[in-house]
This record gives sequence, C-alpha cells and structure tokens, in this order.
Amino acid sequence: MRVPRWAEWLLSAPTHEPAPDPIGAPNDPLTGLPPRPMLAELLAEARQAGQPDGVISMIVVNLDRFRLVNDLCGHAAGDQVLRVAAERLRRMVEAHMRLLHLGGDEFALLVAHQRSDHTLDGLARSILHAVTMPIDVCGRVVDVGASAGSATDETGASPATDLLRAACIAMSRAKRDGGGSFCAFEPSMDIDLRDRAALEEDLRSGIQCGELVPFYQPIFSLRSADLVGFESLARWNHPGRGMLDPGTFIPIAEDLDAINDLCFTLLRQACRDLRSWPAHLTLSINVSPIQICDPELPLRLLQILYAGGIAPGRLIVEITESALVRDVELARATITSLRNAGVKVALDDFGTGYSSLHHLRELQFDRIKIDRSFIHALDGFAGSKIVKAIVDLGQSLGMPVTAEGIETLEQATMLSSLGCTYGQGFLFGRPLPSAATLRMVIELEDDTGPRRAAG
Ligand code: C2E
Ligand code: MG
Ligand code: MG
Repeated sequence: MRVPRWAEWLLSAPTHEPAPDPIGAPNDPLTGLPPRPMLAELLAEARQAGQPDGVISMIVVNLDRFRLVNDLCGHAAGDQVLRVAAERLRRMVEAHMRLLHLGGDEFALLVAHQRSDHTLDGLARSILHAVTMPIDVCGRVVDVGASAGSATDETGASPATDLLRAACIAMSRAKRDGGGSFCAFEPSMDIDLRDRAALEEDLRSGIQCGELVPFYQPIFSLRSADLVGFESLARWNHPGRGMLDPGTFIPIAEDLDAINDLCFTLLRQACRDLRSWPAHLTLSINVSPIQICDPELPLRLLQILYAGGIAPGRLIVEITESALVRDVELARATITSLRNAGVKVALDDFGTGYSSLHHLRELQFDRIKIDRSFIHALDGFAGSKIVKAIVDLGQSLGMPVTAEGIETLEQATMLSSLGCTYGQGFLFGRPLPSAATLRMVIELEDDTGPRRAAG
C-alpha cells in the first residue's frame, strides 16, 4: 500500500458535487450499512430531519491498526472486526443520526444538532470508546483502536463531498497525533495535509537516494565515564526543507509501509560506520511498533549485520511500550529471536506507556531506558524517588538502566549516585552525523583503550 486509502481519496476528491448518487444503492453486504454512494441522499435526509435553525455534522471513524488484523489474522478475521465495529456503531445511532460504511475500515455518522450544541465532542469520544473495546475473533482477542474526525456544515448547503473531505482531514490529524483520539476540523488542517502529501511523495525517493541518514548520540557509562556506544537517530536531509527530525517523517514512513526500508537503509549505513569504531562500542537502533509485529524482522536485521561484518552482540534494538500493547505474543517472539541470536533488546521510554511493570514481568529485556521526562523531574523529591525505584527494579531484574535526556552535570551526578548504569543526553553530546561521530570516537579513544567523558 503506497498512500493510505483515505489520504489518496482526499487528495483526488473533487471539491464540487459529483454526479447524482444512485438512489437506494443496496446496503453494504458485510456490515449491512448504507454504502458511500448513499452519502448525498442521507445528508439530505438528515437536513430534513434536523431543526430549521440546526446544523449537520459528520463524524468519520477509521479503525487504527486494522491492516495488522488483516495481515496477521487473515481477511476473515478482518471482516469479523468490521462487522463487530459496525454493530457497535449501529447501537449508538439515534433518530437524528445516519450511519454509513464508507468502505474498508471507515465509517461516517451524520448528526443533526443545534448550532450551539457542544455535545459532538462527547459523542465522538463515546463512539471511540465503544469501537475500541477488545473484539473476540476466532478465540483471539483483537485490540483495534479507532480515530475520529468531525466537520460541521456551517452553511447548511455544503456538498456532501466537501463535508466528508473536511471530516477525513480532521480524522487524519487524529491519527497523526498517535491515533485513538478525536479531532474537529479547522481550515488550517487542509494546508497541513497538502504539505504532508508533498512529504509522502518525497520520502520514498529520499530513502532510495540516501537523503535519510543516521545521526549518532553517544552513550556513556555513568560508573566509569567510558564511552560505551551510540544510539542511531534518523535524520532526513531534505533537499528543499533542510534537516528534518524523525517526528516529522517516521509516522509517514509507517503509513506508507516504508518503515522497514528506512530502518534497513539506516542500519546498512550504520554498519559501515561501525566498522571504523572500536569493537567494544555498541549501536542502538529504534524500531517502530509496527516492525516488532513482523516475524521476519530478526532475520532481516541479522542479514544486514552479517553482510556488514558486524557481530550481533554489538546491536541493541530499542522498542517502546506502544509496540508491546499491539500484540504482546508477536513482540515476545521477535524479542526472543533477537536475543537468541545475540542481539540485545532495550525497553525505550520506560514509564511513559501504560502497563510498564506488566511488560517487564512478561518479557525479557537486556536494558531499560528511563524516559527523559523522569530525568527532567529529578530535582523534585518524588522525581528522584521514582528514578531510584526504577534503577533498583532494573538491578533486581538484572537489566542495566540507561537514563535518557541528561542535560546537566547535577543530573548526571545524581543518577550516578542512584546507581544508574548508563547515561545519554545533550550534556554528553547531541546526535551527530557520521563524520563528526568518528572524530568524537577518535578523540575519546586512544591506543590504551577507552577514554572518559568530560565532566
Ligand atoms: P528516542 O529513541 O527516545 O530518542 C531520544 C530522543 O531524545 C532523540 O530525539 C534525541 O535527540 C532526544 N534527546 C537526547 N538527549 C536529549 C536531551 O538531553 N534533551 C532533550 N530535550 N532531548 C534529548 P529525536 O532524534 O528527535 O528522536 C525522537 C524519536 O524518534 C526517538 O526517541 C525514536 O523513538 C524515534 N526515532 C528516531 N530515529 C528513529 C528510527 O530510525 N526509526 C524509528 N522507528 N524511530 C526513530
Ligand atoms: Mg531510542
Ligand atoms: Mg527514548
């Protein structure tokens, strides 16, 4: 899949009303709901049913992670999820509402309400709550989420396609913000979406042309102050926009199914760089939640390491907790394969997800990385107690702890006294391009072995 279906449609949708919809198109056989060609007709119906001084709003609901259900559990399971989602939505429909199945994993609800009525937000959230409940498919509990966007027909005469387009734009914004949320349309979002479409165009070619590069941030032992390795952090050297941070393009790469290409391209480049570094230095890479559910990931990573002449023991794969909530069994299989091959696995941004402790009990990691929000709160009484508790927990489970986001000497000293093993942050160095990293390595290492961090 190149562009998500909703984005493709948004960008190609005409802004004028299309030819009249077929009247009375049959309901969608899978969900039993009116299909998208009925949209204009149902909008007219909703206008008639509404109050004379009222307005119509549309809420578009799109399932999160639905593609994974199809990929991992098969299309029959996907169909079952759609049927259940449709049924849950149908139960929420009242007399002043009309529900449609737009196609795929997307639904639209037309709601007639008073202009001054602010309950739309609450309605959208109830819908998300209802759809997001776990679904039992063939004895397996599937946890799909959903995102929603709304748009209001302020003039009372907007073409159905314009209303749908605006609601889809708002829904796509909710997805970009991490999914599982609701967003109401604002005109500025339209411009953002076109900007994103331009970035999508550029991203694939950017990966092929080597515009995506790893930057490296040093990691030090807080005990010995020795340099122990680097974390690879993706940067996009965009020809027109300059250097872009991962927050701008990783979500796009995930949506475009280009995240593996990006990850493997960066790892190949990193393997070339690693060969110039002393053999005791490790490389940490970030993998997206979506990748952790791919059973082929371990093999693909190992093939790249092998081709690059890098021992698996030098690689640390960082995964965030959001990866684990998707499918803990698939994550377990991937983590086990990686560890069996000698690759280390770190739990990144520890403490920011939910069920952090549950994941530590369920899965075996080699390291824990404390999220930088905890490091910034270190100066408070509770902040330092929490960090101390995490460090002790790591120690008792045999997992060394790395603190991220260390910016001051006080933080480094305190973390060291709390027993934290490794540290990373602007205090020690910002992420650097390949050549500057090599200079740093040469400066910090000499013939007699590792040298220490300043400060
Ligand atoms: P992360 O893995 O938790 O990486 C740490 C982030 O904190 C990096 O942001 C880094 O530049 C920033 N950071 C490090 N030290 C400090 C500090 O002292 N203060 C502050 N304020 N920030 C600090 P960056 O490079 O923007 O990366 C953000 C996130 O993007 C990463 O979080 C990671 O989750 C993701 N990411 C980066 N590269 C990749 C990649 O190649 N693939 C995937 N899937 N995700 C990536
Ligand atoms: Mg990381
Ligand atoms: Mg992190």
